[in-house]
Amino acid sequence: MADDIFKKLIGHCKEYGYVFPSSDIYDGLGAVYDYGQLGVELKNNIKRYWWESMVLLHENVVGIDSAIFMHPTVWKASGHVDAFNDPLIDNKDSKKRYRADVLIEDLIQKYEGKIAKEVTKAKKRFGDSFDEEQFKATNPRVLSNQGKIDDIHGKFVKALDENDLAGLKAIIEDNKVVCPISGTCNWTDVRQFNLMFSTEVGSTADGAQKIYLRPETAQGIFVNYLNVQKTGRMKIPFGIAQIGKAFRNEIVARQFIFRMREFEQMEMQFFVRPGSEMEWFDKWKETRMKWHKALGFPEENYRFHDHDKLAHYANAATDIEFKMPFGFKEVEGIHSRTDFDLSQHEKYCGKKIQYFDPELGKNYTPYVIETSIGVDRMFLTMMAGAYCEEELEKNGKKDIRVVLKLPAAIAPVKMAVMPLVKKDGLPDKARAIIDELKFDFNCQYDEKDSIGKRYRRQDAIGTPFCVTVDHQTLEDNTVTIRHRDTMAQERVAIDDLYTILNKGTSLRELFKKI
Ligand code: ATP
Repeated sequence: MADDIFKKLIGHCKEYGYVFPSSDIYDGLGAVYDYGQLGVELKNNIKRYWWESMVLLHENVVGIDSAIFMHPTVWKASGHVDAFNDPLIDNKDSKKRYRADVLIEDLIQKYEGKIAKEVTKAKKRFGDSFDEEQFKATNPRVLSNQGKIDDIHGKFVKALDENDLAGLKAIIEDNKVVCPISGTCNWTDVRQFNLMFSTEVGSTADGAQKIYLRPETAQGIFVNYLNVQKTGRMKIPFGIAQIGKAFRNEIVARQFIFRMREFEQMEMQFFVRPGSEMEWFDKWKETRMKWHKALGFPEENYRFHDHDKLAHYANAATDIEFKMPFGFKEVEGIHSRTDFDLSQHEKYCGKKIQYFDPELGKNYTPYVIETSIGVDRMFLTMMAGAYCEEELEKNGKKDIRVVLKLPAAIAPVKMAVMPLVKKDGLPDKARAIIDELKFDFNCQYDEKDSIGKRYRRQDAIGTPFCVTVDHQTLEDNTVTIRHRDTMAQERVAIDDLYTILNKGTSLRELFKKI
């Protein structure tokens, strides 16, 4: 069922010009995608929502735009050359490759799903008198599944901590995890695989230099810390935000734009006094969750998930997860990165990277809280949250309405303007409305097919408002405005459209909730 929805969503993204496979006429390139005419609008709106929430709403957060290519020593210093690895495992029969940690996480999710099913069944059976906590603490099937989860989880954390690749394989084999393609448990050993892409700059004759395509945008911020702090006269605490492309040679790339080899990140590094990092970590956790929830999707679609294994640079880390059609998945990471990055760069470049704190009267290396979110994953979150198939009844007949219930502020097209018929001066009147509003809002003109069909087309791309121009419009300058989610229609003056759209589609309404 969930699989079905996901397939439909992917089809919908292609059919309506949101997302295309890269190099489509050559049958695509694995885990690389292009954004179409509506996709790019949605993506830009997501980026604007993030960027403005960072640099407009916080006077101590500024932005930069650093290059993708960086000095190769950056990646040595950051630890990526030595440690940016994923544990991979192959199935010998299907020849398919998997991430060992993902197979184990999926296994844990399978048992969590079994528990959730038992709870749902019991809830139905017991009605109002149901006590979930008590049920979970006493039901034998729940207890057995929870026991399995605890056992797997314990071994998993230990194997990750000790970098024990054989231990990871043992969990997979002991729990009889099979390859979904071959259905067998015939696995190779687990190996480490570095995710960075490399290329060369300069010609070979001159002694070309190996460089990397950045696997995260964060390092561009760290190497500019001094530049920004000094030229911007920034005082700690302060943040530097950046949006840009990142590249990872992902082993498993089968979930559409969830895991891509070329993707975009929105990262913010917040520099704080050592010792105050946990306070800021909690503050950013809360702020970032509010940012997600302000979009209006149901609260139960979000959760925090603390990391089982901290990255080499972190002393605390959590993910914000969203309920995708294929389960709860990470959309954003919030990490307390200590002074690891700045100290490492100081060591490798030989220059002092510190802050003189006038209040304390001393120098120190700032600690860092990072918020890191993928634009593409956020895009998928929006599409998954917004995609709806509604059953309607019309003249005694059942009908399905496909509608993207995107938050109006993020929707690619804000308003469609439709003349009721293609004559009598109605098209000119419709165009005049667009000419007045197009400086502030993305509007679309549509005169083809019946009004009903036109409404459906706009529902399918998530346009929050449709305006119909009819003969009465020519007499009294009023139009019918139709609201996407409720399908309610009302008669309003053309002069009021700006105010209605401004209130209904501005980011300001979302910002007020953060
Ligand atoms: P995962 O465990 O899913 O591989 P990660 O923990 O490695 O993700 P981070 O390094 O914390 O991810 O990256 C920060 C954010 O960048 C993620 O929360 C995600 O939104 C995004 N991101 C990371 N890798 C990819 C990818 N291959 N494709 C799309 N977005 C990605």
